[in-house]
Amino acid sequence: MPTPTDPRPAAPAAPRARRPAAAWRRELAEAFREPAELCRYLGLDSGLAAEAKASTAGFPFLVPRGFAARMRRGDPADPLLAQVLPRAAETRAVAGYAADPLDEHRFLAGPALVRKYEGRALLLVTGGCAVNCRYCFRREFPYAESGATRHGLAAALAAIAADTTLSEMILSGGDPLLADDDQLAGIVEALDAMPHLRRLRIHTRLPVVLPSRVDDALVAVLAGSRLAKVVVIHANHPAELDDHVAEAVRRLASLPALVLNQAVLLRGVNDDEAVLRRLSERLVEIGVTPYYLHLLDRVRGAAHFDVPAADALALHAELLASLPGYAVPRVVREVPGERSKTGVG
Ligand SMILES: *Cc1c(COP(=O)(O)O)cnc(C)c1O
Ligand code: SF4
Repeated sequence: MPTPTDPRPAAPAAPRARRPAAAWRRELAEAFREPAELCRYLGLDSGLAAEAKASTAGFPFLVPRGFAARMRRGDPADPLLAQVLPRAAETRAVAGYAADPLDEHRFLAGPALVRKYEGRALLLVTGGCAVNCRYCFRREFPYAESGATRHGLAAALAAIAADTTLSEMILSGGDPLLADDDQLAGIVEALDAMPHLRRLRIHTRLPVVLPSRVDDALVAVLAGSRLAKVVVIHANHPAELDDHVAEAVRRLASLPALVLNQAVLLRGVNDDEAVLRRLSERLVEIGVTPYYLHLLDRVRGAAHFDVPAADALALHAELLASLPGYAVPRVVREVPGERSKTGVG
């Protein structure tokens, strides 16, 4: 069907005509899936590509072209590249780094539902992402076993309907916005019909790595909901936030939705006061409030990103001194078994 902005006249309805894939789906299909392609595109040494190829360790390489376009050509230390390019260090076993560092298994409250905190729970809508971040704490999460499937979702929705202590549902994943609009609409409608729910929160990196996902169809799905909306995006470096991201945020904010950012403190990416300050300033400029700065979760393969807690504290103190209070994210780590994220400092 033509969208309201589509100038073409409506074509006669063909029997069993397939809807054309949305622009964001086509962009995702064209994402870099081979390190050699991305290295060639950036003018980087093929040795780096070979190292990446040998180090993906079961967590595939995946980078949308629009995200790669924000990387500096010819710079192997680019902070966006560092988040997505597998390095040999990933394959080294390091004591204290595990497959499921947050013990999420223990908190599966039924299929696809993670329940740790009072009043709010995570629904794992899909296991897929549009970018594979090498530091991701769910890089080894067994989505299939956790029930993040259509069948599992139905069971999770029944559990949410039965638990009247919940007031907020968080759509998570993977990246929940990788789900089709029809599937999202089904979930949102089901949640809308549960009187105990007041807020819908979405944890997504798509507005940053694939901003075309925030299209008219998605906005329509969300605008139809009675729930108060909160969208938590994920950017770690100011260079991620180009004008396309600003436009995606503007569309979300106009729902209206409260738009927040969570970042992960990563060695070689943003463990620097000036970078974190520019990240906060750029977020505020495009209408996003910095929410959390997470210490790295100790997932196997990510030890080379770790920043010691003492350094995190020093960075936080510098940010407090140089930024308005609302632009300073809370520095947190996740401690399994605690009643909330744990503040550091
Ligand atoms: C982080 C998290 C939340 C949300 O916590 P907030 O502090 O409200 O942002 C909820 N559930 C789980 C399982 C989480 O890991
Ligand atoms: S987008 Fe989020 S869930 Fe997906 S790989 Fe990156 S950090 Fe992990």
